[in-house]
Amino acid sequence: MIQKPKGTADLFGDEARIWQYVEETARIIFNDYRFEEMRTPLFESYELFSRGVGDTSDIVSKEMYDFYDKGERHMTLRPEGTAAIVRSYVENKLFGPEHKKPYKTYYMAPMFRYERPQSGRMRQFHQIGVEVFGSTNPAVDVETIALAWDLLKELGLSNIKLVINSLGKNEDRIKYRQALIDYLEPHFDELSADSQTRLHKNPLRVLDSKDKKDIELVKDAPSILDFLSEESQKHFEMVQAYLTALDIPFEIDTNMVRGLDYYQDTIFEIMTDSKSFGAKTTICGGGRYDGLVEDLDGPETPGFGFGMGIERLVLLMKDEEVEIPNVYDLDVYMMGIGEDVQTEVLTLTYKLRQQGYSVDRDFFNRKPKAQFKQAQKQNATMVITIGDEEVENQEASVKIMAKRKEIKVPFSELATNFDVVYRQATMDTTAIDEYFNAK
Ligand code: ATP
Ligand code: MG
Repeated sequence: MIQKPKGTADLFGDEARIWQYVEETARIIFNDYRFEEMRTPLFESYELFSRGVGDTSDIVSKEMYDFYDKGERHMTLRPEGTAAIVRSYVENKLFGPEHKKPYKTYYMAPMFRYERPQSGRMRQFHQIGVEVFGSTNPAVDVETIALAWDLLKELGLSNIKLVINSLGKNEDRIKYRQALIDYLEPHFDELSADSQTRLHKNPLRVLDSKDKKDIELVKDAPSILDFLSEESQKHFEMVQAYLTALDIPFEIDTNMVRGLDYYQDTIFEIMTDSKSFGAKTTICGGGRYDGLVEDLDGPETPGFGFGMGIERLVLLMKDEEVEIPNVYDLDVYMMGIGEDVQTEVLTLTYKLRQQGYSVDRDFFNRKPKAQFKQAQKQNATMVITIGDEEVENQEASVKIMAKRKEIKVPFSELATNFDVVYRQATMDTTAIDEYFNAK
């Protein structure tokens, strides 16, 4: 039997319903914040990520799904969203005067990384992400963080924590880098093997290590915040002041550096210690990347963005037993009794759906009782019964389930005027009696 590739998932049933709810909620909030969607290709040139994300990052050095196509081009499945959006921003000249500034865009899309699969870590996973181009205003940082925070709150999550830090500008980091090397070098033998190789290549990543002894060691390391220029310091203070003004709680973790090389100034993560992951886990991470657009051949343009993993989000929602609203409940179950009414069942079902109602029906000539069970299972608001007698009178019996009340409604009303029937029936059933008695 052929099976799905390792680290991928099939989504269906309740699971797919949660995903839809997440995506629909996100789209509504993105619209409130005035972000527009962008869709980019599933595969891109390898060079986009080796330059955009950085050769020393885990993503590029270990996790790329890269391949040579039949034209010998070095391609890769997209491992993350930002570099691809930046490419599109530059290629489509979205910095031009006819486009809104700042340019605010979002994506919801599959990403691919060759990783060891485990809970919340897949080879094909999905991210909701945003990018804002063209403003260095710290209010952009805070609005974008607030957007992520709002989305998670709107989805009913409470076990989350916002952590922020500042990485300063390049010059600040060069000075800090040296201070960090000076601090760590005397402890070289105590460092994990990974951190030993990183110490001179990318010492900030040592701060990020998950190794217990490394964590102990870096606890007393110098803080990046002591190396910030006045400008970066002011920026970071404004970010904190704005977050406080919005009543969004946060912590500062000076050892948080994030895995991607393009960040500067504000970075943030939203984490959870939910038991579904085993350890403290990041659901959403992002920050400011003022140099990236230029690095990818565009004009000097500041940027700010985040990526949020949908798989982890959904795991957390299940863990917190978040309730999914019943927007997918069934409006009408169309119950047909007997072979002779099948054309009426077909046409009335069709016409109700054309009027915007969700309608289900039977295809197996099941007994009324079995059909009624199907209706109950789907929490139908109404059951409309059509038997021989109803066809003869051109009038259906409509049962309003919550009120245990049954009324007669002409087929013609169902076919053309169902809004009135539905609204009246679900609100006040005395009104519907009057409505049809008057006819
Ligand atoms: P981690 O340290 O957990 O590997 P990361 O730093 O590689 O995360 P980012 O590249 O910042 O993650 O991606 C942003 C978000 O995307 C993560 O916080 C997470 O929610 C999600 N994510 C990243 N990699 C995976 C994966 N392999 N499977 C599922 N979700 C993922
Ligand atoms: Mg990773």
